[in-house]
Amino acid sequence: MSAPEPADWTRGEPRLVVVRCDRCGMRWYLPRAHCPLCGSRDATPSPAGGRGLCVAVTRLHVTSAGPDDDSPPLGLALVELDEGPLVMGRVHDDALAPGDRARVSFVEDAPDADRPEDRPRPRLVPSFAREGFR
Ligand SMILES: [Zn+2]
Repeated sequence: MSAPEPADWTRGEPRLVVVRCDRCGMRWYLPRAHCPLCGSRDATPSPAGGRGLCVAVTRLHVTSAGPDDDSPPLGLALVELDEGPLVMGRVHDDALAPGDRARVSFVEDAPDADRPEDRPRPRLVPSFAREGFR
């Protein structure tokens, strides 16, 4: 299988895509060549609804920018999508907690200020908040 269609955020489109194995029904998130359960290459991708159950939240106080970086902590969440797979994403809602219903949106990940040549343009990355959060 080549990269799944429709394209997801890893290819510049603001959406999550879940792939379902045509042989065994296993579902996964992020492109891979084979089903992780049965090894089949026959699979069907489809856009995910972007909603699910928050199962974990953490905040990184020291990032790759180093200990002297005074940026606010980077929130990360693990969300079990309604379609089944787990997705890790950022958090843009400080009150998001395990057990909450969560919804994805896409936020710009700015280029690394110290190494802009690595990624000169912002890209969209998944970020979670409680359902209904504005
Ligand atoms: Zn399978």
